[in-house]
Amino acid sequence: MKTSKRIYIGLLGLSLFLVMLVIVLGYYLVAHRYLFVNKILLIVGIVFMAGAVLLFSFGIIALVLMIKQSRNIPALDHLVKLVNEVLFPLTLVTGKIFGIKRERILKSFIEVNNHIVGLKRLVINNDQIMILLPHCLQNSQCCHKITMDINNCRSCGQCKIGEIKKFAEDNHIILKIATGGTMARKYISENRPRGVIAVACERDLSAGIQDSGMVPVVGVLNCFTKGPCVDTDVDLNLLESAVLTFNKGG
Ligand code: SF4
Repeated sequence: MKTSKRIYIGLLGLSLFLVMLVIVLGYYLVAHRYLFVNKILLIVGIVFMAGAVLLFSFGIIALVLMIKQSRNIPALDHLVKLVNEVLFPLTLVTGKIFGIKRERILKSFIEVNNHIVGLKRLVINNDQIMILLPHCLQNSQCCHKITMDINNCRSCGQCKIGEIKKFAEDNHIILKIATGGTMARKYISENRPRGVIAVACERDLSAGIQDSGMVPVVGVLNCFTKGPCVDTDVDLNLLESAVLTFNKGG
């Protein structure tokens, strides 16, 4: 397992451990009458939380096993998704406590996600794959309105949009430019792709992956050559590899 994946997986385990500590502390306070809680409520609470901790522990173990053995376990897909959804915000808090930069955690999460999507060995036709680009890839001086219709791009070479448009056309891939999460969700619900390749920064990509439901998303980070959110760039080779994740089974 690469170090960067370890950051997120380690924080998942650590977050769950901290949750257990809080539960034990809560129980201690109640048992020693520092806190007063209805007895039935206490028992229900303990049973519920113990069940949740067990379930999430199992989910984290399943995730580690999948990565270690380079094998997807379809029966545990939903559980792994649930672990990510519930514990992901906690990993950010835990990371902050331990002084780990937010970007490193998000990058690690994206890498884990991409790896898991690759393990599914999906075979998706190109016309069922959607590439979602952020608006900031467009040259900030460009006057063509490409968010509503990518065909308005004149492929002038001033930014990567023209090249990506040609790549998508040549490979019959759906290409959309989203100005934010709402627009991205709209494109996904209108086009119903079976796989999404999303290009964005760490923050938007992690949010998009969390938001995507059961649609597999491969995240590709854009690079900031002139600062964040303006005239950003993306490596076309990474986009091509992301497409292969979907139609050659990773
Ligand atoms: S390639 Fe040229 S026309 Fe197309 S979006 Fe970029 S700057 Fe505008």
